[in-house]
Amino acid sequence: MTGSLFPQKSYPILPVVGEDEGYPVHRIFCVGQNYADHAKEMGSSVDMEAPFYFMKDASTLVQSGATVPYAPGTENLHYEMELVIAIGAPLFQATEAEAEAAIYGYASGLDMTRRDLQAAAKQKGRPWDFAKNFEQSSIIAPITRKEAMGPIADQRLWLTLDGDIKQDSKLSAMARGCAEVLSYLSRFYHLQPGDLLMTGTPAGIGPVVAGSVVRGGIDGLDPVTVTYSAAE
Ligand code: MN
Repeated sequence: MTGSLFPQKSYPILPVVGEDEGYPVHRIFCVGQNYADHAKEMGSSVDMEAPFYFMKDASTLVQSGATVPYAPGTENLHYEMELVIAIGAPLFQATEAEAEAAIYGYASGLDMTRRDLQAAAKQKGRPWDFAKNFEQSSIIAPITRKEAMGPIADQRLWLTLDGDIKQDSKLSAMARGCAEVLSYLSRFYHLQPGDLLMTGTPAGIGPVVAGSVVRGGIDGLDPVTVTYSAAE
């Protein structure tokens, strides 16, 4: 074991409601187009054959309540309000029942997106990294343990921009539920405690500007908030 040329980064830690110790975040997986109304507003439809995913680095994580500068390289930074699953046990090639049992808890999260870069990437058939996996693009509230949340059913998911309601849906509107998207993902990755899965956003996505206050919530979970300042 050699020394380190510069300070080694540690995993960011999300608070857990009612617990002294937090949840270190290793990887952030995200499901694309998991609500029919959002797929439609993107000019698409839910892929009935299989879900699709993308990833964000753990280093993109920002705690709820932060003030964040408007992202560089975009003129169309969008909010996407999502239910976030926190994985609590190893999961590989798992059944849906095994996936359900491996859920540690849930959180409210914002999957911020450089929509103009995403549109350009889609048009040219290029990766989504620049559109999704950028600094301070994952704003996530404290995690609530699964037992405290109760079963995922028809809880309301909502988002306000400067106090105006923009997204308003039910978790039951997800095209594929938590166990299904986890089980499918586990065919391709050895999921571990510390891995998060953002489960997709309903219709109503839209842009923020410098000065915007974004607030989102899900029944039974802590709300997530972020304020945007001018670009650096
Ligand atoms: Mn999303």
